[in-house]
Amino acid sequence: LVAGIIALSMIIPATQVFAAGQGEREVSQQLVVGLSLPTQREERWVRDRETMIAEAEAAGIDLRVAVADADMAQQASQVENLLAQGIQVLILAPHDAQAAASLVEEAAADGVPVISYDRLILSQDVDVYLSFDNERVGELQGEFITNLVPSGNYIVMSGAPTDNNAALFKRGAMKYIQPLADAGDINIVTERAVDNWLPENALNIVENALTASNNQIDAILAPNDGTAGGAIQALSAQGMAGQVPITGQDAELSAVRRIVEGTQSMTIFKDTRELGKAAIEAAIILAQGGNVETNNVVEGVPSLLLTPHIITEDNIDLLIDSGYLTRAQIFN
Ligand code: BGC
Repeated sequence: LVAGIIALSMIIPATQVFAAGQGEREVSQQLVVGLSLPTQREERWVRDRETMIAEAEAAGIDLRVAVADADMAQQASQVENLLAQGIQVLILAPHDAQAAASLVEEAAADGVPVISYDRLILSQDVDVYLSFDNERVGELQGEFITNLVPSGNYIVMSGAPTDNNAALFKRGAMKYIQPLADAGDINIVTERAVDNWLPENALNIVENALTASNNQIDAILAPNDGTAGGAIQALSAQGMAGQVPITGQDAELSAVRRIVEGTQSMTIFKDTRELGKAAIEAAIILAQGGNVETNNVVEGVPSLLLTPHIITEDNIDLLIDSGYLTRAQIFN
């Protein structure tokens, strides 16, 4: 038992000495961390959850996980429930960047540090923001598509307006698209946000743009693989899948398969295993009252931004070599 407690206290920071009535008593207390995710719709969020569960288990942390179905009211009540359970740190990937600010305030009132995970929460009370360089994600998409299609009719889609990342992706991509549009080379026939990141909304946007332009579409900026999938379905219905270059993001298995078969042009590999690991490490440090190592400041919040990588048909091996996807998954 003593060995067990020593082993635990080496990995768990919250060993506390209480001055109880009958004298001092050492209590080895397990660190309790709350994790609130916005959705499991995109494959990546499933992986984020799985990674953090595994990392927490390896570190001896009691991780309480709640998943909202892309619904802010549901996420809010889940977070309040986690706080009521006495979590010591909150890892929060918000459905809505603005609405989640009040949850950060509630956590702060309880003395619970908050890690803004992948998506920024627009609150100065966030302790640390862990994500990827999201503007860079957009730049990789914009640079790629404008190199391939420097002129012609474009559909420009962006992600959910409630998600701060969506604005960053778009800003990055428009650095490449806008100058060509200003020069009259690119004609943006449709510029729309995809509400809630839903593939069916992307499908509708592309369907309408195809109808309005008499199928004269030369390139599509899709902010992620899910929306690219919807867009490609709309192209497919017109027999145009594979004829219109289209971007993506997340390195979802289905998207990488589409790259192999030639219906999607690229995706972005963000190694969410690294992000999940960083979040659990940060939770331990914050629980100890320490400072998390960061490499950036975003909207006044100390931030750790990991590097995104572009994936095209030429470097699918990057995904395989890193173990993110297997050759068998992609090619079978
Ligand atoms: C994430 C993307 C994801 C999108 C939809 C964004 O905040 O960064 O990886 O595809 O949300 O869930």
